[in-house]
Amino acid sequence: MVSKSGEVKQLDYCKPMESSKEIELTKTLIKYKAVKPNEINSCMDFCSAWLQEHGMNVEVLENEGLKIIVANLPNKNKSLPKVILNGHIDVVPGGEGVFQPRIEDGKLYGRGSYDMLGAVATMMLVMSDLTKRDNLKYNVSLVLVPDEEKGGENGSKFLVENGYLADFVICGEPTNYNISIQAKGVLQLKITVKGRSAHASRPWQGDNAIEKAMEVYRKIKNLPCFQETNTFFPKESFNLSTIIGGGVINQVPDVCSFDLDIRLLPEQNPEEIYNLIKSEVQGAEITLLKMGVPVLVDEDNIFVNQLKTIANKVTKKDIHFIGQYGTADTRFYSEYGVSAVEFGPAGAGHHGPDEFVYVQSLINYRKILNDFLLHSRRETL
Ligand SMILES: [Zn+2]
Repeated sequence: MVSKSGEVKQLDYCKPMESSKEIELTKTLIKYKAVKPNEINSCMDFCSAWLQEHGMNVEVLENEGLKIIVANLPNKNKSLPKVILNGHIDVVPGGEGVFQPRIEDGKLYGRGSYDMLGAVATMMLVMSDLTKRDNLKYNVSLVLVPDEEKGGENGSKFLVENGYLADFVICGEPTNYNISIQAKGVLQLKITVKGRSAHASRPWQGDNAIEKAMEVYRKIKNLPCFQETNTFFPKESFNLSTIIGGGVINQVPDVCSFDLDIRLLPEQNPEEIYNLIKSEVQGAEITLLKMGVPVLVDEDNIFVNQLKTIANKVTKKDIHFIGQYGTADTRFYSEYGVSAVEFGPAGAGHHGPDEFVYVQSLINYRKILNDFLLHSRRETL
């Protein structure tokens, strides 16, 4: 920009670079359109070759037809504490356009740019950076999983069940640099209530199953444990998801069933809550559909504090500890007592048509992870 006096003015807004290793690698991953198993596996093949070319020892596992990658540094030292960087390759479906990545105003648009191929690409670059260092403070592995968006059972769950554990795990989910140290537990139930059918004109001769089910529903919803909240979760998550009952209009319904999706506070024990419901509710059949443990990492945990300090320093932002209402692969590690957090770059619109990640945030993310992995927990920064 040239002012009236003819001198060149410094622009306040520095146009971010249009090309960097982070951008190029993220774009490449987006174009794989990793939705279906064959697309996911093709992307895994690319990542495996890339990691080997950049000096990693790569193990490719296969479970239920899906590939999983575990990459280790060649200079790994087994006596050091172990840190896992965990990234999922799969993305949710979208129109063709979202698989054509583009840069606009410092943002990299495309499916998975924010959730979480930008983080995956950056983690791959971090691993490559670490192969050049000999002052490692951790034994670092990168694991790339194929099915987080579908529940993670074939990827991260399979890995933890086969002993791929660590002292600390970072899942690169989109968190805008905040560190998610809590996630709600899950309790999904089917409740079936039986009654007795009769002609609708004489309802007293029957026993209305839908009305009985409504009473059961209110009884469960009003239990004190479902009114509780905490600092991270100011809202309760109790959802009546489906209801099936009745057949024809002139009949008293003899059966009614409904599904509940309940998300529990991290300090609540899903097993105990399930038993409480069974003991409080009489005259209904309760079927357990799913039980998932919460994530609860201590705010004083030395790893998360180190990560927070470094993220603050690199981004010059106020980084917060946060809680997630939904679940991620952190829960599988949590089940084995491993401290696992969600921590990823900044962007918006994940799972939507305008998903993007800030290019600068990928560059910051790389610096944060590098700094974190090159400083021991006791070092002052
Ligand atoms: Zn994700």
